[in-house]
Amino acid sequence: MSYSTKELHELDKTYYLPTFKRYPLAFKKGSGSRLWDMEGKEYIDALAGIAVNNVGHAHPKVADAIGRQAHELIHISNFYLSEPQVMLTKKLAELSGLQRVFLGNSGAEAAEGAIKIARKYASKNGRGGTIIAMKNAFHGRTLATVAATGKEAMMNGFAPIPAGFLHAPFNDLEAIKEMVTEEVGGIMLEPIQGEGGINLVDPSFLKALRAYCDEQNLVLIFDEIQSGMGRTGKMFAFEHFGVTPDVMTLAKALGGGMPIGAVLASEKVGSAIDWGDHGTTFGGNPLACAAALATIEAMEEEGMLKQATEKGAWLKAEVEKVRSEYPEIKEIRGYGLMIGIELTLESKPVVTTMMEHGVLANATAGNVIRLVPPLNIPMEDLKTVFEVMLKSIKANR
Ligand SMILES: *Cc1c(COP(=O)(O)O)cnc(C)c1O
Repeated sequence: MSYSTKELHELDKTYYLPTFKRYPLAFKKGSGSRLWDMEGKEYIDALAGIAVNNVGHAHPKVADAIGRQAHELIHISNFYLSEPQVMLTKKLAELSGLQRVFLGNSGAEAAEGAIKIARKYASKNGRGGTIIAMKNAFHGRTLATVAATGKEAMMNGFAPIPAGFLHAPFNDLEAIKEMVTEEVGGIMLEPIQGEGGINLVDPSFLKALRAYCDEQNLVLIFDEIQSGMGRTGKMFAFEHFGVTPDVMTLAKALGGGMPIGAVLASEKVGSAIDWGDHGTTFGGNPLACAAALATIEAMEEEGMLKQATEKGAWLKAEVEKVRSEYPEIKEIRGYGLMIGIELTLESKPVVTTMMEHGVLANATAGNVIRLVPPLNIPMEDLKTVFEVMLKSIKANR
């Protein structure tokens, strides 16, 4: 038996903590870039679980790996090793050039780990543990990560919020330098701000920031939870800029939909962590690691980085062609398939119209449509996303 979308939403209103403002949809099945709701209506997914389903829904390679691993071994404990965990940490270290990996269960947990590593390194090197994050950042919803995010609306009512975070305007090195005292131990930023509206880092700022962190012995943390794992056409967004962080967080697309997060650190910074400093029960369990390994393998086998680059370039070129007919489009920006279309209108009603026409996207930062489809979305589906978006902008004029 199966419930209707309406029945599920009524039950959700009764039982779930009222924290999510949901769209009136419920899904039963997915494949590639397509989703089907409880009544069998088909959607094209240009949100991909908020940049999670980079290899598409129910990728056979990932589904098979999860099934096989579940029959063999789901969980042990970090008192012991499993082959998928060791193979995944080796793979992530090789891909990133960072030597040390810690595996957790989510983005916020990875960000917490990054903050702890930076603070431990700072404490061993005569600096304080204050972290400078950026305005319009997003680092998660746990207490320390909302403090790092620094958004008033996310902190209201939850005092006392952990101390130890300052916020500088994005891309402004002078402002950062003015904030740095002996109390500051690290700088944390998203190389491309996701929730903040797909705001791009200035490459020269990033290079100068790296040099400044080296000079001051500050830990440079990149939050690549959204921009990592091929989303921007490189495995990690930092590769676009030739600037390597000391610490990097990953999550979202890492497990192809399985909950998993990772903190990576250079040998220099990571070696500040001592036995017993950090831990997790579920983190790095064989099931999540097998899913992540299969996800990375699928990306490599199907050339998904190249696909993201080419499809992103196509979408940008198409939008540029119609800019004069759509004065509501202020700008299209992004790398690969991490794309923001800034409007002169509120983006939420446009995204709602798109949904009514069978395309899922996301409205962020008030007036930005965020498109983060699966990297292997067929061109035909991407064309539909583009056409429905234009139609929906027109409908909301
Ligand atoms: C989604 C996201 C997070 C939080 O990840 P969760 O898994 O929801 O805890 C942190 N940082 C960035 C950049 C994100 O996009």
